[in-house]
Amino acid sequence: MSLKNTDLLAARAGTITPSLTLAITAKAKKLKAEGISIIGFGAGEPDFNTPDYIIEACKKALDKGLTKYTESSGILDLKKAICEKFKKDNNLNYTPANIIVSNGAKHSLFNAVSAIINDGDEVIIPSPYWLTYPELVKMAGGVPVFVETTEENGFRLTASQLKAAINEKTKAIILNSPSNPTGSIYSEEDLKSLVSVLEESEIFIISDEIYEKLVYNGKKHVSIAALSEKLFKKTIVVNGMSKSYSMTGWRMGYLAAPKEIAEVIDAIQSHATSNPNTMTQYAAIAALTDAKGEEFLSEMVKTFDSRRKFMFEKVNSIKNLSAIEPNGAFYVMVNISKLIGKTFNGSEIKGSLDLTEKLLDARVAVIPGIAFGDDNFIRLSYAISLEDIAEGLNRIESFVKQVI
Ligand code: PLP
Repeated sequence: MSLKNTDLLAARAGTITPSLTLAITAKAKKLKAEGISIIGFGAGEPDFNTPDYIIEACKKALDKGLTKYTESSGILDLKKAICEKFKKDNNLNYTPANIIVSNGAKHSLFNAVSAIINDGDEVIIPSPYWLTYPELVKMAGGVPVFVETTEENGFRLTASQLKAAINEKTKAIILNSPSNPTGSIYSEEDLKSLVSVLEESEIFIISDEIYEKLVYNGKKHVSIAALSEKLFKKTIVVNGMSKSYSMTGWRMGYLAAPKEIAEVIDAIQSHATSNPNTMTQYAAIAALTDAKGEEFLSEMVKTFDSRRKFMFEKVNSIKNLSAIEPNGAFYVMVNISKLIGKTFNGSEIKGSLDLTEKLLDARVAVIPGIAFGDDNFIRLSYAISLEDIAEGLNRIESFVKQVI
């Protein structure tokens, strides 16, 4: 058997696309290591240290020898803290039997999809989407069905679009508010109009709420699971510690699901990874229950908000670029459609990937919209310093001025 012959590998594995965001971030890092000044707008994680009180809680757990396996779905005290969080923040009533703690929200999403998708099941994914969703669906044998949202409707799926997309093969929809990559947020009214369609169907809802704390302009995050008793029984709510507490490397996410689904997910996880990382679970209890968490968050949100405003205004001041105002997460979706078909240094800009490659030569790393299902955009992250944002946008501006 030759390992070069990929025909011998699982057919399903061959359909999985590697993460383009990670690939571009790695390329930018490599150029940086070579001494080239690159401004990286690809960041998918807060540029803040994990707060000390969380690190201390982890150290304490280690000192106490809490380094062994735990229950596969997570320790009871953490599940109780998560239930309290859901009650306080989202008006959702869960018991520990509904909660599965995993190694990151990505892992929770993997588990959720694995638990409900059969071969050939369709899963509705509003586009632009977080690039992991379609790959997770394909891994489970499902078929991603994209429904295009536009700037005109604030990158939000409408009830009529949803109704038109549901058919007898539809098994689930993945909602993400606040959204990566668009920064859009579904208001309670938006969600209620989707609820009226979803209540008529039998499909499951996976609601990825990982950016819930990163909201601006007085917007409020609402969980769709809180708006309907009927949908509460069909919704898997996913959340985690990565974005709210700047704990990306700790790998800690969780989901809440109806008990029967939670049991299946527990069984899957118990064979895949046993339990989530033990000491991180103790750190997560501190993160969720200590009042210092709110202080940390409000500082972080304030900082992100001023960068968001700066970036949004600057982008719109650059000729041939535009963006609608994002109200959540830490990304700006920049419309590049006016640059496509034009030329830079005699070479045509064919699409977002091509533009991304040309921008690397201008010493700026961005994520091409094609990775999120829309070639008319690039995504800029403002999880970097204001100085870097200003410098990077100046570089983009002088690049764009040379496009003819
Ligand atoms: N969901 C969305 C929309 C994300 O952007 C991310 C991370 O980038 C995740 C989930 C996964 O987060 P983690 O696995 O770090 O908890």
